[in-house]
Amino acid sequence: MSRQAKYIEIKNCNKCKQNINFRKFRKVNPLRKGPNKGKKVGWTDINGKTRFSICKTCENTGFMNRYRKNPYHQLFHNFKKRASFAKVPFELSKENLIKIFDNGGDTCPVFGFKYIKGADKNNRDYAPSLDRIDPKKGYTKENTIVVSMLANRIKTDATIDQIGKVYQFYKILLKRNLNL
Ligand SMILES: [Zn+2]
Repeated sequence: MSRQAKYIEIKNCNKCKQNINFRKFRKVNPLRKGPNKGKKVGWTDINGKTRFSICKTCENTGFMNRYRKNPYHQLFHNFKKRASFAKVPFELSKENLIKIFDNGGDTCPVFGFKYIKGADKNNRDYAPSLDRIDPKKGYTKENTIVVSMLANRIKTDATIDQIGKVYQFYKILLKRNLNL
């Protein structure tokens, strides 16, 4: 029986069926969890590295389509990761998340402007974002609301009392400067 060529330079993408240079395929490691743990995935490139069987372009297209179809799936995992990083509880289901964003309406409750959905890096401040009212209490139904990125960014991890002090300080400082 003839064996498949071991080291491949040009690979046929399993998705778009085009012959593509090996560098256009993402490198993968053997699965570290799940039922196929330790099992080799993908194929071996000319340098002996394992790569995914779908090209990067097809992978990105697939990712974008899935995001468009269900952005909450991605958001859910992002917030979960953020919670674990901040070492705070995460008690929201995907359904909770959808409901929180739906209830958030289309204007920022702090500044009153209309959200820009699908905002890019030039108008990110106008995008809706999830805020932990008390940062330490984490992502629970009671502790999570939607505000603009701008409000969220200003608040970050500060308490309302601390924000008040910042406000008072600059209010007095600016007033004094203007009176000079
Ligand atoms: Zn492809």
